[in-house]
Amino acid sequence: MSSNRTYKDYYAVLGVSKNATQKEIKDAYRKLARKYHPDANKSDATTEEKFKEIGEAYEVLKDAKKRKEYDEMGRYFGGTGYSPGAGGGRTSAGGPDQGFSFNGFGDLFDLFGGGAGAGRGGARPQQARTKGSDITYNVSLTFDEALKGKTVKLSVDKEETCSSCGGTGATPGSGRTTCAACGGRGVVADNQGIFSISRACPNCGGQGSIIERPCTVCRGNGRIRVQKSETIKIPAGVADGSKLRFKGKGQAGLNGGPYGDLYVVAKVPKHRYFIRSGSDIQLDLPITFTEAALGASIEVPTVDGSVSLKIPAGTQEGRTFRLRGKGAPKLKGSGRGDMLAKVHITVPEELSGAEKELLVRFADARKEDPRKDFKE
Ligand SMILES: [Zn+2]
Ligand SMILES: [Zn+2]
Repeated sequence: MSSNRTYKDYYAVLGVSKNATQKEIKDAYRKLARKYHPDANKSDATTEEKFKEIGEAYEVLKDAKKRKEYDEMGRYFGGTGYSPGAGGGRTSAGGPDQGFSFNGFGDLFDLFGGGAGAGRGGARPQQARTKGSDITYNVSLTFDEALKGKTVKLSVDKEETCSSCGGTGATPGSGRTTCAACGGRGVVADNQGIFSISRACPNCGGQGSIIERPCTVCRGNGRIRVQKSETIKIPAGVADGSKLRFKGKGQAGLNGGPYGDLYVVAKVPKHRYFIRSGSDIQLDLPITFTEAALGASIEVPTVDGSVSLKIPAGTQEGRTFRLRGKGAPKLKGSGRGDMLAKVHITVPEELSGAEKELLVRFADARKEDPRKDFKE
């Protein structure tokens, strides 16, 4: 048995076709997992190995994204003439993308994640402790909840550092050996005509070394997929699109590196008449032309209930009244923003005979010319 785990064809492992639906994959996995489950068998190494292999194949193929990457990886390997790995004898379905060997799907996907040494030239790659990726969740709040704040429970689908191996992927006490395929460089060269193109070593995933004895808990991945319940306190005053950062609550890092962060983005629907502008709240406030001309005391809605606002005589269209402290709580600093009530003067669309008579008399008394400035 070679020390690095050799994978050939996950489809063949599960006995399904390349075009199998997710349901077919799931059914095949369940059937095989029952058959090879250690509890249902005398503990023999071959059965155990087979059971692990089924689990690994399913782990990749059940996830649409990983499956796609795996399929692409197959093509990637297919054209390189990379010789099939050892540990074989298993019948694979043939075809150019069969029979490659690499060290665990965790490493395989690290290659895409940018954590591995594809771009590092000839330097010997270290087992870099890379920070995990961030996770972003959208949380829907009502307009009111955004003003008052809310505690929400999220079920976060994420990977955590395997506590058994501390994220190294190796059974505690065992180590890593230099990758034979790349001599520890982590890169191999393809000759394409006059060009020689370096790429990450497929055998070690660009790491330059391979795990001698993969951790049995995380199967060499170093990370374990979990559904983690997180209680998130959303502060009062968030608005639509506010992005909150919760440090260290993202994905586990590579090789035991630090966790990424969790970002929560607030989704807040528009209010019927209040408009958020940072910590201020705007309101378009209609008043009649007589209220504007004569002055009035009117009721104005605020997020705290209605208040009385004095409109002075002679108020012009577009004038904005500032109601201090009637805005949203400030996210940075303390206190609250203001409400900005902008006046819009309404004009009656229809007049009765008596009203018309009054206004005509008013106009005659005024003899006003608002366009006098246009004249020479
Ligand atoms: Zn582990
Ligand atoms: Zn290698």
